[in-house]
Amino acid sequence: MYITDTFTTEAKKYIKSAKNILIFSHKNPDGDAIGSGLALYHFFKDRGVNVNFILPNEMPSFLSWLPSADDILTYTSDKEKVIKYITETDLIFMLDFNQFSRIDCIEEEVKTADVPKIMIDHHPNPYEMYTINYTRTSSSSTAEMMYEFITSIGDENAITKPIAECLFVGIMTDTGCFNYNSSNPFTFRVVAELLSKDIDKGDIINKVYNNYSESRLRLLGLSLNNKMRFMPEYNTAYIYLTRKDLSRYNFQQGDTEGFVNYPLSIKGCVFAVSFFEKDGYTKCSFRSIGNFPANIMAKEYFNGGGHMNAAGGEFKGSVYDAVKRFEELLPDYYEEYKHLVES
Ligand code: 5GP
Ligand code: MN
Repeated sequence: MYITDTFTTEAKKYIKSAKNILIFSHKNPDGDAIGSGLALYHFFKDRGVNVNFILPNEMPSFLSWLPSADDILTYTSDKEKVIKYITETDLIFMLDFNQFSRIDCIEEEVKTADVPKIMIDHHPNPYEMYTINYTRTSSSSTAEMMYEFITSIGDENAITKPIAECLFVGIMTDTGCFNYNSSNPFTFRVVAELLSKDIDKGDIINKVYNNYSESRLRLLGLSLNNKMRFMPEYNTAYIYLTRKDLSRYNFQQGDTEGFVNYPLSIKGCVFAVSFFEKDGYTKCSFRSIGNFPANIMAKEYFNGGGHMNAAGGEFKGSVYDAVKRFEELLPDYYEEYKHLVES
């Protein structure tokens, strides 16, 4: 365990005096955001605490089978209720993000809520936006930290089967199915504990990774065949999709999840980027191998941030303008960090 007694004791104190707890996670929620949030939601529900889990926007359908996923409130579809709950809350949890801009449309409401805020997150450089904070950048996922948190404020038995399923999904998705970001034996100790709760690992993997539409697979085909550019001189590749491409392939939230990782399987590619055009902006994802930083590009030039090997951001403009900007920046960026490329 890495979590400190000081943090647990403080958190317990806040929880004890809270009547209405709210849990928040980030925009465009992934498996870790939803898994860690739902696990904590279950923990409080199991103890009869009044709790709600709120997301800024919709979750991908491949996660909708998670236990109690139907209880999640989104600002996009339930504005009034969300605002009302924020005015009534007396304790806020912020999971898997460390800056207010990550909750987008509810940023102002959460920021100005005059209640204790507990942040649990594994991203670097947290903003001072919390009352107490547990940050561990060496953690595979917020879900792994949530396992520590729940077992510290409760005990081993607090991890029920639904909680184990949620946490397993969080760790599994944030590590690319135990591929990256999971060299610490502690991650696998947590996973072993979760598996001991009788969860069906094979079934979970099928539900998360083998549950897409035919058009999503064809969109991946288009991306790799026609919409990817590899620049061996920069050990870099990028994928770009216009709104037209996305709508032609009947894009559903979550469909492009993981596309950005594919170019990294090219020998010599250490930096992979994806640009997906949305309504009024372009969503950018950055991935890297080894010590070549993905997050500096995201933070300095694309209004984002993240981990060294996995970061994201947004570009205000079309996908073509985003690609153009990226191509302009790449030579200098590569020059600055090429000594970190491992051969
Ligand atoms: P993804 O590319 O899958 O959206 O995100 C990869 C990583 O970067 C995740 O850890 C995520 O939390 C972080 N990230 C994604 N988008 C943003 C953003 O706009 N701002 C910041 N600070 N981090 C982001
Ligand atoms: Mn995460």
